[in-house]
Amino acid sequence: MKTQAMITMLSSIPTPLLEWYRKNARTLPWRSNPQPYYVWISEIMLQQTRVEAVKPYFERFIQSLPDVQALAAVDEEVLLKLWEGLGYYSRARNLKKAAQVLLQEYGGVLPKEYEALVTLQGIGPYTAGAIASIAYGQAVPAIDGNVLRVVTRLLACDEDITKTPFRQEVFHSLQAILPDSPGDFNQSLMELGATVCLPNGMPLCGECPVAQYCQAYLHKNPLDYPTKPKKKARRIEKRTVFLCLYQGKIALCRRPEKGVLAGMWGYPDREETLSVEGMEELFETYGISGIKKSPGAKHIFSHVEWHMTGYLFHVTTPPKAWRWVDREELTQAAIPSAWRTYHEIALDLLRM
Ligand code: SF4
Repeated sequence: MKTQAMITMLSSIPTPLLEWYRKNARTLPWRSNPQPYYVWISEIMLQQTRVEAVKPYFERFIQSLPDVQALAAVDEEVLLKLWEGLGYYSRARNLKKAAQVLLQEYGGVLPKEYEALVTLQGIGPYTAGAIASIAYGQAVPAIDGNVLRVVTRLLACDEDITKTPFRQEVFHSLQAILPDSPGDFNQSLMELGATVCLPNGMPLCGECPVAQYCQAYLHKNPLDYPTKPKKKARRIEKRTVFLCLYQGKIALCRRPEKGVLAGMWGYPDREETLSVEGMEELFETYGISGIKKSPGAKHIFSHVEWHMTGYLFHVTTPPKAWRWVDREELTQAAIPSAWRTYHEIALDLLRM
């Protein structure tokens, strides 16, 4: 679809959409005071995470790290603990790296310009557009999955939304129709996508302020849009998790610096399903005893699923490569939710 045709078709939506947004926008903690730091933190948290799940994390994060200076100086363990349960921990690490650059190069303030924002660690085109428009009123679109869904339905456009040239066309088209309040307009599109033009199940077209301009609604086929390539099936990884105890402490182990949960602390494990005999053989030299099987658990990441078996056991010689923590240290460690089942067992065990 040509950009000019898109612009013409979308040109009627800003007025009714803004009117609807101003009456119907959800009250969210980062909306009441859209200062750049708050918009940045909330947008990073909202990547891959639902609004309701983000709210308490956002409040806690802002209370602990109220500004760029505090974020740049935070200890990594504290940062990851604040992020614990949100997943995609590289987001938190990137926040800190970007905060350090902001301190060194921008006087501790997020820049206004989209082009500068997009160079910061962890800030892509969408987040840069959101910060520039919402916090600074800059005339730049912010295009996320919600916006692409709404736009492709409005246009009945079946182009692949994962392709960069199409995203650029959408960017230029939306830029051409941005009203005086670009931040509100961008949020109105996102809000429509999140609450009316829904991602799963039938959109609520009867409540949509722009239904009369929507080609998919007029053709009664909104679920045909957006078009994206089929996802590859997730890889299944079988793992055995070790709840290994030694003198009232339990073993933790750091994940490799690359790959799933890079650099995070978790329970030691092995990429295979081990039997009790396999465990005895593996830990023979460490004086293994009292082996008990723990419940199985499953964790789904975007590209891989962990299917886990767990064993609880004691050793008389602690493996040196692991970190040994008591209950208090374990409570303070940021343990990703992939290990939730085993983490709860470990906390109970150390209470005894
Ligand atoms: Fe989405 Fe329906 Fe509105 Fe079209 S009319 S934008 S399909 S909610």
